Amino acid sequence: MKIHNFGAGPCILPQEVFEKAAAAVLNLNNSGLSILEISHRSAAFDEIINNAQNLVKELLGVPEGYKVLFLQGGASLQFSMVPMNYLPQDGKAAYLDTGVWSSKGIKEATLFGEVLTIASSKDKNYSYIPKGFDLPKDVSYFHITTNNTIYGTEIFEDYDVKVPLIADMSSDIFSRKIDVSKYDLIYAGAQKNIGPAGATVVIVKESFLQNKARVVPTMLDYQVHAKNDSLFNTPPVFPIYVSMLNLEWLKEQGGIDAIEKINIKKAELLYQEIERNSLFVGNVEKDSRSRMNITFSAINEDIEAKFLAICKAKGIHGIKGHRLSGGFRASLYNALPLSSVEYLVEAMQDFEKENK
Ligand SMILES: *Cc1c(COP(=O)(O)O)cnc(C)c1O
Repeated sequence: MKIHNFGAGPCILPQEVFEKAAAAVLNLNNSGLSILEISHRSAAFDEIINNAQNLVKELLGVPEGYKVLFLQGGASLQFSMVPMNYLPQDGKAAYLDTGVWSSKGIKEATLFGEVLTIASSKDKNYSYIPKGFDLPKDVSYFHITTNNTIYGTEIFEDYDVKVPLIADMSSDIFSRKIDVSKYDLIYAGAQKNIGPAGATVVIVKESFLQNKARVVPTMLDYQVHAKNDSLFNTPPVFPIYVSMLNLEWLKEQGGIDAIEKINIKKAELLYQEIERNSLFVGNVEKDSRSRMNITFSAINEDIEAKFLAICKAKGIHGIKGHRLSGGFRASLYNALPLSSVEYLVEAMQDFEKENK
C-alpha cells in the first residue's frame, strides 16, 4: 500500500532525494567512498557545503552581506544561542508569543535578559496571529515564529520594523517567497522543508553578527561559525548532503515561485474540504491559517476515532493532531504531492457519505 506521509517533522522528502542519498551512502559520485566516511575537510565535501550554501542563497534570494551557516542542535539550540549572543544582561528583547515554539524561545531568553512578550494568542489556544501590537524601540531584537507547526497558524508578512528582526522559520522556510533583507537572523531546523534532522540553517546579516552581547562559549558563538564557514568542527556531513540534494530538487521544480503556487493549491483544496465537510471544523481563524500545517477537528470524539482508523487503513500517515491542539493535523510540506492532498480529501468525502 502506498503511504501518504502527512507527518509534521521529520517529514516527507522527495523519493528521488531518498534514492540519491541511499546511493551516496554506498558510493559517493563514483569515488569508492561513502558519504559517511569522507573527511569534512575534503574537496568533495567542500563542493557539497558550498553548493548547499549557494542553493540557500539562490532559492531565497539572500542579498549581499549575509552569511549562511549549517549548525547543529536544532532550532531548539537557537532558542538559547539567539539571546546568549544578542540580548545583553541589562537589555530587553521583544517576543511575539504564537505557540509552543515561541514560548520555548521566550523561556530561554529570560535566562539572559529582560523579555517583553509584546503580544500573545494564548487566550484562544493560539488559534490566531496577534495584530496591531506596539513594538518598543529600545529592544535588542524582535523575535517571531513565522509558522506555528503545532497550532497551524502562519505569519505571511515580512514585518517592517525599526529593530533587528529574528525569525524561527523551521516549518515554512522554502515554502514561499520571503524578503530576507527584512531579517537580521533567520533560523530553521532542517527536518521540515530542508533535509534530515541534524542540520540547522542560520541566515545572518553580517553587520548584525557584530552585536555580540557577552562572552559566549566557542561552539555557541555565531561569529566563530561564520568566520570558519560552518567548519569550525565536524559539521553534520550527511544531513548537509541530503539538504543539498533536496534544495537541488526544489530548484528543478522551478524554485520558490513554483513550489509556492503548488503549496497554495494544496492548502486551499484541504481548507475548502474542511469548510464544506459536515463532520470536520477548522481549528484556526481564517486569516491566520498555515499552508504547511493544517489543523482541524472532528465534530465529536466518535467521529475522530473512526476517521483516524480509516486514515490508518488507507495509508494516510501522521495525521493525528499534536496533543496540545487535538484533532487532526495534515502537514503539507514541499515534498508532499498534490495527489496526496487529493487522496485525503477524497477519504474525507467518502467518510462523510458513510457517516451521515
Ligand atoms: C520543529 C520546530 C522546532 C524545534 O526544532 P528542533 O530542531 O527539534 O529543535 C522549533 N520551531 C519550530 C517552528 C518548529 O516547527
